[in-house]
Amino acid sequence: MYFMGVISKGAKCNVDGCDKDGARSINTTKVENANLRVTSVGKKSVLCKEHYKEYKKESKEDRDLERARFDKF
Ligand SMILES: [Zn+2]
Repeated sequence: MYFMGVISKGAKCNVDGCDKDGARSINTTKVENANLRVTSVGKKSVLCKEHYKEYKKESKEDRDLERARFDKF
């Protein structure tokens, strides 16, 4: 069974130096943009709960910037 953004059991966090169980699969570019160093070379990176929290915290600012940048109204 595959659900978008949800990791199959057994995947580990791709953040450098972290070996916790993965919770989410995120686009690697987005993860790097959130200042998280990942060891994965694929399009998607696996993040554990803690790093996903960190990612969300960091990417929130990016999202705000993007929204401002692309806001045409
Ligand atoms: Zn992690």
